[in-house]
Amino acid sequence: MQFDILTIFADFFRGPMQYGIVRRAREAGLVKIEVHDLRAFAHDRHRTVDDRPFGGGEGMVLKPEPIFECIEALEVLPRGERIKPGAKQSVIVLSAQGRRFNQDVASELATLDQIILICGRYEGVDERVSDFLADRELSIGDYVLSGGELGATVIVDTVTRLIPGAVGNVASTRQESFTAHSEDLPGDGPNSTCASRGLLDYPHYTRPAEFRGMTVPEVLVSGDHDEIRRWRRRSALEKTVRNRPDLLERVPLNDEDKELLARITGKEC
Ligand code: SAM
Repeated sequence: MQFDILTIFADFFRGPMQYGIVRRAREAGLVKIEVHDLRAFAHDRHRTVDDRPFGGGEGMVLKPEPIFECIEALEVLPRGERIKPGAKQSVIVLSAQGRRFNQDVASELATLDQIILICGRYEGVDERVSDFLADRELSIGDYVLSGGELGATVIVDTVTRLIPGAVGNVASTRQESFTAHSEDLPGDGPNSTCASRGLLDYPHYTRPAEFRGMTVPEVLVSGDHDEIRRWRRRSALEKTVRNRPDLLERVPLNDEDKELLARITGKEC
C-alpha cells in the first residue's frame, strides 16, 4: 500500500509515522508513506499556497494549482478511472464536510494499492479540488480541526492495521470494536474470546488480579471458556448500550445477543 500525503506542514508527520504498527509495517515493506510539501509546487518567490476567498469572508483558502500539479506529478489515474468499481487508487480530501470515516470505510480503503490524502488548512481547500480532482472527501468526526494532517494520520494508522501482516495477531483486528464482518474464531480448543460483530469490544484486564482493592471479574479467572465468552459478549453489549446505543440499530443481533440484551435493558428485543 502506498500512501501519499499532500500538506503544507510536511514536518508534522515526522513523529506519528515512526511508532508501533505503522513503523513496523513501513519497515516490513507493507506500506510506503510519502509526504509531499505543497510549497514545492508553488511557483512564485514566496511559495504561496493560499489566497483570499472569492466573495469575501474570513480566512484564507488553499489554492488549487499546487494541489493539481502535485497529483499530476504522482501520475495517478484520471478521476473517471478511479471511481470505477475495482479501482485501486483513491484521492481523498480531508474535510469536516466529508463523509464520515469509520471502520467500514477503512476496510474498503485497505483493499486499494494507493491512497492520496490532501490536507486542508485555514478555511479549507479550493472546492475545485473536490469537484474535479479528488474522488472523495472524508471527515474523521463531527468537529473542526485546524488542518487535515491529524485526519490523514488517523486514516493511515487505521488502514495500515488492516493490511495483512501489519498486526502480528490477525485475530485481534478481526475482533475489534466496529468490525462488522468479525467472527468468533473457530479453533482446535475451547474459545473464550468473542468478536465485536460491529458493536464495541469487550473489556480487557491483565495482572494483577487485585489492584488497590479492585479485583478483576471472577469469571475471567474461572477457566470456564464458555462462561468467559458469554460474559464478554454481555459486557460488550452493556458497554454498547451505555456508550454507543446507535450501533445497536445498525448491527444484526443473533438470538444469544437478543437474550443478553433483554436481560441488560429489561426489555424484549
Ligand atoms: N471551513 C471549514 C468548515 O467549516 O468545514 C473548516 C476548515 S478547517 C479549519 C481546515 C482543514 O482542517 C480542512 O480543510 C480539513 O482539511 C481539516 N479538517 C477540519 N476538520 C476536519 C475533520 N473533522 N475531518 C477531517 N479533516 C478536517
